[in-house]
Amino acid sequence: MMHQMRAETGPGGATDSVVSWHIVRDADLTALCGKTLDPAAPVQDATHWTRDPDHNCHTCGALYLRETPYLPGEHQD
Ligand SMILES: [Zn+2]
Repeated sequence: MMHQMRAETGPGGATDSVVSWHIVRDADLTALCGKTLDPAAPVQDATHWTRDPDHNCHTCGALYLRETPYLPGEHQD
């Protein structure tokens, strides 16, 4: 299963107004926490999850780590 980070943006929807990052499966628009995200919102690879934890959705983080036993960069394929 592939995960991506998708941003929740501010009212203007500008890419520089990221409120928080959520995790989606396979480029879905519904985050693991149930929030529906804008198709125009910025996305980035899930390996970036640990880089700016202050802006991460805590619910998505908990669910993501449950689905992905290893932290990004620690995959033992
Ligand atoms: Zn979330």
